[in-house]
Amino acid sequence: EVGQGFLLYLEGISVSFDGFKAINDLNLYIKEGELRCIIGPNGAGKTTMMDIITGKTRPDTGQAWFGQKINLLEMDEPEIAQAGIGRKFQKPTVFELQSVFCNLELAMAGDKGVMPTLLARLTPSQVDRIDHVLQLIGLVGQRNLPAGALSHGQKQWLEIGMLLMQSPKLLLVDEPVAGMTHQEMDRTGELLTNLAGEHTIILVEHDMDFVRSIASEVTVLHQGSVLAEGTMQQVQSNPKVVEVYLGA
Ligand code: ADP
Repeated sequence: EVGQGFLLYLEGISVSFDGFKAINDLNLYIKEGELRCIIGPNGAGKTTMMDIITGKTRPDTGQAWFGQKINLLEMDEPEIAQAGIGRKFQKPTVFELQSVFCNLELAMAGDKGVMPTLLARLTPSQVDRIDHVLQLIGLVGQRNLPAGALSHGQKQWLEIGMLLMQSPKLLLVDEPVAGMTHQEMDRTGELLTNLAGEHTIILVEHDMDFVRSIASEVTVLHQGSVLAEGTMQQVQSNPKVVEVYLGA
């Protein structure tokens, strides 16, 4: 059986840039509904790994399956997005002049274009979907505000909501709490925890306090492969991890 029953199955993935192995025999197995945190020092290969999952970077060797049927290595970026893998980059990119509601509406339309979307009438079920996402991201009270008026944290939640409008099965989230207040970080933790189960989430994160607060499985990358896996407590007490982080 391909994919071994995992939602995401990466096996023996390697990729070199000018002879430098950025990803070196990487294995990553993600179950449906999981919230997995990926940590590791700068240059560990976290971004490259995400680029491989989304089809932005093609590995030299290895296998990458999304569910049992979808061979990610045979698809391009738009096809992978279409198959249900959504990515949120670190910096929020919302339509500042449009309302929060309108941002979600545009995200639902995806690449069908801005003008047709704004001219079309929403069906009641489409309005329900937007309302549901507004509740998930905690922005019901801000629905009519221009996105540019939101706080940094609220913009990040809106962008997560925009991803959700595309109903992805797997969400890749890159350092969402950078620049957030403590309160915003706590709410982001709640939001991601609430989304897990119905969605599967891979979270790349530098903030160790935040990763600890989420209390999910952690994968530590180092020099392009998995150094350790387990709970934050387990990986923190792993001597190999301590060495990498303390630079011993
Ligand atoms: P991380 O996200 O964990 O900081 P990256 O995936 O960005 O790590 O980078 C892993 C390594 O690969 C780094 O040493 C980086 O310099 C190198 N690298 C990444 N992308 C490229 C590229 N397009 N060309 C050359 N080197 C790259």
